[in-house]
Amino acid sequence: MRWEGQPESDNIEDRRRAGPIGARGAGLGLGGIVLVLAVSYFTGTNPLTILNMLSGIQDMVPGSEDPQSVPAGSPNDQLGKFASVVLADTEQTWQQLLPKTFKRPYEDPRLVLFKGSVHSACGTTSSAVGPFYCPNDHKIYLDLSFFSEMSLRLGAPGDFAQAYVSAHEVGHHVQNLLGIAEKVNRLQRQVSETEGNALSVRMELQADCFAGVWGHHANRERNLIEPGDFEEGLHAAAAIGDDQLQKMSHGYVQPESWTHGSSQQRTTWLRKGLDTGDLHACDTFSSNQFNGRH
Ligand SMILES: [Zn+2]
Repeated sequence: MRWEGQPESDNIEDRRRAGPIGARGAGLGLGGIVLVLAVSYFTGTNPLTILNMLSGIQDMVPGSEDPQSVPAGSPNDQLGKFASVVLADTEQTWQQLLPKTFKRPYEDPRLVLFKGSVHSACGTTSSAVGPFYCPNDHKIYLDLSFFSEMSLRLGAPGDFAQAYVSAHEVGHHVQNLLGIAEKVNRLQRQVSETEGNALSVRMELQADCFAGVWGHHANRERNLIEPGDFEEGLHAAAAIGDDQLQKMSHGYVQPESWTHGSSQQRTTWLRKGLDTGDLHACDTFSSNQFNGRH
């Protein structure tokens, strides 16, 4: 990506200096169980053991106030700056698209950079669950070491692969602003676990498609994209497909337990966004195509 020298976002909270705190898993972000699975796969450790070890020190954190809170600003290091440029570009894209498509203003989310574990309005979370969006505080939480895991453990390197991860979380923010997240949560409380998982897959695939919509506009309007970038993103989407992760962790595939979608589904919907740049193309809820596991 041609990102250096591009505008950066002010909506970044850099909490990496605050250091890790005690943590336990609270909901799954993009790639969900990627890190827990990857760690347990490569070390042979039970993932629950890893999470329990982390939660053991949680009691040492006093009170419910956020001890890590820092003022927003722009980071100084390369990785942080890159995340900041990508966030700024998503802001620009969504500030144009949301009023144009849905006649409503876009409210910028915040990006919290952290190391190890983090407090949010969604609880205390270990980076083992991967990057995530918390709808209660409109913030995206990202431990940048996820990107080296993605590159080394999952074979999905590249700056656009990283940008796709951030843009996917921004996609969840858009779903939150549009009331889609709330509708899905309400529905999920009324159906079986398997049906709930299927709804979760449609949500995640839409966030992939929204990430693609951003990529489309970053390319067309600001020329941020270089040859090979989109392929990196599609490769990453395939690498974090539920079937791929399940094969990696226990050697077989259970579609009814999927929450994010297969490699094929994720690349299909990311590509749809990248190709069209149109939010209407991202209606994963009424589409039957989401079933396309050929
Ligand atoms: Zn997601």
